[in-house]
Amino acid sequence: MSIADPIERALSRSGHRLTAPRRAVLDTMRDLGNHFTAEDVQHASPAVGRATVFRTMKLLRDLDIICQVVLDDGAVVYQLNEEDDSQHHHHVVCSECGKVAEFASDGLERVLDDVARATGFEIDAHRLEFYGRCAACHAR
Ligand SMILES: [Zn+2]
Ligand SMILES: [Zn+2]
Ligand SMILES: [Zn+2]
Repeated sequence: MSIADPIERALSRSGHRLTAPRRAVLDTMRDLGNHFTAEDVQHASPAVGRATVFRTMKLLRDLDIICQVVLDDGAVVYQLNEEDDSQHHHHVVCSECGKVAEFASDGLERVLDDVARATGFEIDAHRLEFYGRCAACHAR
């Protein structure tokens, strides 16, 4: 059986079902488009309880189905990752229009080993965003 929806596929691969509340949260996020906050999702899906929205967003984040992006003013927004098999990656955010591009870099990830060695820490997580102007804003 093949599942057409990449998100449903990602859920099922990790042993999760696309329950009705999860589907409602997903549909809401698709409607909201580019960036949205947890509050946006809550307001736009009043039929789904607050706790369910948060739990669902946490699950989708853990599965890399949604990305958390920190804007240059510190606001935290999310975006839906429609691509299959999303890998660990980072974001470059346009300070003018808010466009977000994704990239991955082995060199960047190798820095983590240096940090672990230099500090004696075991590094569990990291967060890194780049800010600038996208090609369209740059051309203006
Ligand atoms: Zn991303
Ligand atoms: Zn831009
Ligand atoms: Zn990284």
